[in-house]
Amino acid sequence: MAETIFSKIIAREIPADIVFEDETCLAFRDIQPQAPSHLLVIPKKPIVSLADADDQDEALLGHLLRVCAKVAEQEGLQDGYRVVTNIGKQGGQLVLHLHLHVLGGRQMNWPPG
Ligand code: 5GP
Repeated sequence: MAETIFSKIIAREIPADIVFEDETCLAFRDIQPQAPSHLLVIPKKPIVSLADADDQDEALLGHLLRVCAKVAEQEGLQDGYRVVTNIGKQGGQLVLHLHLHVLGGRQMNWPPG
């Protein structure tokens, strides 16, 4: 997988406001927040998107969702929040390293743009 801005954050080659880290994943604040709380949860394993994960990644994918809930709780998002992952061109994915957006601190609307 090609190097991305997120692999550079994992390698500490560029700075990020990291809010959670363990052996398999990292959570940090989005540089262009779309809500009062906007965190990104990423695996350290280089996976391009959800569409590129395979059966061997099932536990990792579940863990990423659990980390989303943990960082949301840490952020005090007890009134609710949204978890989103963009996939590919039509999904609006810009950074080609799997990431889950955790958005909260305001009312979310539906349908999304
Ligand atoms: P995507 O559109 O790929 O789902 O979302 C990529 C996200 O990464 C965007 O919300 C964008 O603001 C965020 N982002 C891009 N570059 C950086 C960066 O260098 N640092 C951080 N913290 N977030 C970034």
